[in-house]
Amino acid sequence: MIEIRNVDKNFGTFRALDTLNATIGEGEFFSLLGPSGCGKTTLLRMIGGFDDPSSGEILIGGRSMAGIPPNLRPTNMVFQSYAIFPHLNVAENIAYGLKRLRLGRAEEEKRVKEALDQVELSELGPRMGNQLSGGQRQRVALARALVMRPKVLLLDEPLSALDKNLREQMQVELRHLQRQIGITFVLVTHDQYEALSMSDRIAVMFGGQIAQIAEPKEIYQNPATRQVADFLGGMNFLTSSHLSVNGKNFAATLPGIGDITGHLAGKTISDPAKAIIGIRPERLRIVWEGETADPIVTGKVADRNYFGEVTSLAVNIEGQNQHLSIVETNDFGADDIPVGSDIRITYDRDAFIVMQG
Ligand code: ATP
Repeated sequence: MIEIRNVDKNFGTFRALDTLNATIGEGEFFSLLGPSGCGKTTLLRMIGGFDDPSSGEILIGGRSMAGIPPNLRPTNMVFQSYAIFPHLNVAENIAYGLKRLRLGRAEEEKRVKEALDQVELSELGPRMGNQLSGGQRQRVALARALVMRPKVLLLDEPLSALDKNLREQMQVELRHLQRQIGITFVLVTHDQYEALSMSDRIAVMFGGQIAQIAEPKEIYQNPATRQVADFLGGMNFLTSSHLSVNGKNFAATLPGIGDITGHLAGKTISDPAKAIIGIRPERLRIVWEGETADPIVTGKVADRNYFGEVTSLAVNIEGQNQHLSIVETNDFGADDIPVGSDIRITYDRDAFIVMQG
């Protein structure tokens, strides 16, 4: 549906986007994820036609979009600031963009009703734009874009103004809506959980470049680089020696833990000297009293944080420069382990990953 070919964007001497390449499929929920200033919005605006690449090309449905203005593209954009007209009611707000299509009153009303139903605001048509809650404004903004029946919906941080509970509810609803109507969604977000929970695939961006494009599970479990792992949060980075790469595998010695091996999982590690080994906190487990396990690593609990269903422990292991974080369910009493106590932990032998540093 969308092809981004060697796209660069310069603002004066500043290079905001650097040789971007990506293909987004029809009906795909695709997210652009990255920290503030990495170029997500700039790329989204170029897909929508609000800005042009300095070089390279964007194709939609196989057609080059060079020189094609936003209103003639098969795209529509939901902006971060919903920009709802306060003096128009909800139905009028949604119908606003339809006027220029001159569809006739009956068709216009049909489309507005359909869009209101899609965002579950069927009863709210007559309500004035300045009498809406944050969540309702967000839905109206969405309906206003959907009513144009775009092939691609572009969403620039559409949920960022909502409080946590409403945001989580809207994430589920937005994903559900996308599956229902089946069009391509391109979402810009700096919230990793939002991207992980909603997307078919994610492009992780830093400094105007794409570091990795993959499905959420792959991004989370097998980040391409340390930077990607860092941004997604939670990864334990391990102190290692004798790190070597051999064919599709790697091996290393982890002080306080032992000799480990792992699969490269399709990655190329160009500079093993700068590579780093990681393990996700949930792949480490406490070995309870009376229980046996192999391998076993011993450590001291340095900190404990309770999160309701799970507890996160920071464990100090001799020889490791950083605490290892372990996330355990509270079923067996992880929430009662005293800070300062000695614990035994084990790990899945296939859980180590290597990343280019
Ligand atoms: P945020 O999440 O904060 O919106 P972003 O990843 O969407 O960040 P962009 O808005 O795409 O980032 O901006 C990328 C870089 O380009 C930033 O450094 C920004 O300052 C710069 N930039 C964006 N638009 C312009 C412009 N019109 N002129 C000059 N620099 C710009």
